[in-house]
Amino acid sequence: ALPLVAIVGRPNVGKSSLFNWLAGRRISIVDPTAGVTRDRVSTVVEHGGRVWDLMDTGGIGIVDVDDLTADVERQIQFAIESAAVVVFMVDVREGVVPLDEDVAARLRAINKPVVLVANKADTAKLGEQAGEFNRLGYGEPLCVSADQKLGKDELFEAILAQL
Ligand code: GDP
Ligand code: MG
Repeated sequence: ALPLVAIVGRPNVGKSSLFNWLAGRRISIVDPTAGVTRDRVSTVVEHGGRVWDLMDTGGIGIVDVDDLTADVERQIQFAIESAAVVVFMVDVREGVVPLDEDVAARLRAINKPVVLVANKADTAKLGEQAGEFNRLGYGEPLCVSADQKLGKDELFEAILAQL
């Protein structure tokens, strides 16, 4: 089987949007409110002579909007069991929120390589706000924008370096 790269993060940071962009087609459901993703969705990525499976683990099943922690817990559980590399996604427009800190703490315990990615960096100015994510303990985040399709090569390089 191919090594698996799992995208994890709290609902609404743009995991499904990033996944669809990198997959080059719309597989995962993007939802502005709830965190609904029909199923575990994966796509094969090829970059720099390596091949891996990229998976959107968010919203497996129907997410209870009153208990978003349960969604994150399922994602982490999946990552523990199956991922070679974890892409930990945050939202640069919102900054650090408590659920991000929960994810950071949970990932710290699982001892797998983590690539911290700040999505929604649609402009350079937004990207400048990413420094606050350093306190999650995964270094400087890599800024991307699923909307503007920015940062793909840098993200693939960062994943490759951890595979
Ligand atoms: P998920 O719950 O983490 O899978 O997040 P989704 O992919 O469903 O996206 C949640 C919302 O964020 C949707 O309204 C998206 O259109 C929006 N979104 C996703 N990526 C970006 C981005 O790069 N920039 C902006 N401005 N909005 C985004
Ligand atoms: Mg989703």
